[in-house]
Amino acid sequence: TAQRAYNFSAGPAVLPVPVLEEVRDELVCLPGARCSLLEMSHRDKTFVDILHDAENTLRSLMNISDDYAVLFLQGGAALQFSMIPANLLRDSGKSAAYIQTGTWGKKAIAEAKKEGSVDVVYDASASNFNHVPRAQDYSVADDAAYLYFCNNETIQGVQFPSEPECPADVPLICDASSDFMHRAIDINKYGLIYACAQKNAGPAGVTVVVIRRDLLERGSDSLPGYLNYKNHADADSEWNTPPTFSIWVLGKVAKWLQNDIGGLEAMEKINREKAAMLYNAIDQSGGFYTGHAKPDCRSLMNATFTLPNDDLQSAFLAEAAAQDLVSLKGHRSVGGIRASIYNAMPVQGVQTLANFMTDFATKNA
Ligand code: PMP
Repeated sequence: TAQRAYNFSAGPAVLPVPVLEEVRDELVCLPGARCSLLEMSHRDKTFVDILHDAENTLRSLMNISDDYAVLFLQGGAALQFSMIPANLLRDSGKSAAYIQTGTWGKKAIAEAKKEGSVDVVYDASASNFNHVPRAQDYSVADDAAYLYFCNNETIQGVQFPSEPECPADVPLICDASSDFMHRAIDINKYGLIYACAQKNAGPAGVTVVVIRRDLLERGSDSLPGYLNYKNHADADSEWNTPPTFSIWVLGKVAKWLQNDIGGLEAMEKINREKAAMLYNAIDQSGGFYTGHAKPDCRSLMNATFTLPNDDLQSAFLAEAAAQDLVSLKGHRSVGGIRASIYNAMPVQGVQTLANFMTDFATKNA
């Protein structure tokens, strides 16, 4: 078989090898089913059981109570930019509060403005999105429709170390697309948390939405059916054909987290170790590497940094690729290097990159 490189892609991104192997082994004929999952009705009991199993694994892994619905949707994270305000802002007579700490929050704001009144309560764009606000840096009206934030800005590599402050009666809404399940969180702090799968949770095609059930009642019957969360909750994510393959693999990734890794606290510990390797390489490079994010909000998932000039950056990418360290080019809007080190990136891969960074800096400083 071909040798796998260490793949630092921001998404779709690295998946756990045991999951890929299981998918390979079960793909042509699902055990007990006499056909592939790809060929099976979504109403078939075998698939319905797979869907419920994925949901139940997420519930136990993330400690999600029955007060919340877990939905498997399509349209990517981008559709949530619109679905959230369509259900929770449109016709509410209220304004929605948004914290803007990077590109994805900015896009969410642009979509929300099409649905109603938006109050950008904090905007980090003037400092090139290199930090998140402290509680004293912004305020949210007690009657806001909700407070929205993106926990981990994938492009900038800026992450909230903990949930932003939010008035008690205002639902807190989170885009967790690039750091879903990277640590244990208290779901009860959230009104809604969502993530596309293709970074930390599975293949492209499915978006998980965890929504407090009382919020399901806020969508109007006049919404297009697919856009109304309540339809999906009432139909157990089978309002229409769900992305069966992606749900199947996502369920396997969640099981891998639970059984092989040992849960989200264990995962967080590994993620902190991995991130520290890269940030230490940056901090100990004598200024050769410049981290983009302020140290107190550096992402555990996407480490972003620049080199002294473009020539060195091109050499870095070429030499890294020659050592099987691939997909390290930063997003075009930020430049530099971005190493995405999601849950499934092995410690060994990050260690190899950190060693490469230190060697490269020594040779080229
Ligand atoms: N939010 C975040 C934080 C992301 O990283 C991404 C994907 N790059 C998106 C939203 C958009 O996801 P999708 O392409 O699935 O719509």
